[in-house]
Amino acid sequence: MERKTIQKDAIKEAFLSKSRPLRVDEVLLIGRKKVRSLNQATVYRNLKSLVEAGWLKTIHHPELGVFYERAEQGHHHHFHCHACNRLFEIPGCALRKKESALPGFVVERHEVFFFGVCSSCAHT
Ligand SMILES: [Zn+2]
Ligand SMILES: [Zn+2]
Repeated sequence: MERKTIQKDAIKEAFLSKSRPLRVDEVLLIGRKKVRSLNQATVYRNLKSLVEAGWLKTIHHPELGVFYERAEQGHHHHFHCHACNRLFEIPGCALRKKESALPGFVVERHEVFFFGVCSSCAHT
């Protein structure tokens, strides 16, 4: 297999093995266990092309910056644990578009973050 393909597969695998959004540094850490030649630049390049291909989408956390997750998961919200700095998936959406918009405004998208401690951090 071509080196480029091997790198991209390792990055995809990182997302498939973890069921939560990942930051660039996490992708690098996980991907490197499979492919030693990965570096920050190759990870960035592959993440960008996977977003363009519609395989990944970005999440913009107000404090931690950009996370990536698989696009096929559909719309949902996230929980941020401030103890371990991980993001977790909150399935579904309880917000109703009409009620969230000001009159005359058109809502195109939203991102919701819950903040606190995750179950493993709460019990240590
Ligand atoms: Zn935690
Ligand atoms: Zn929502």
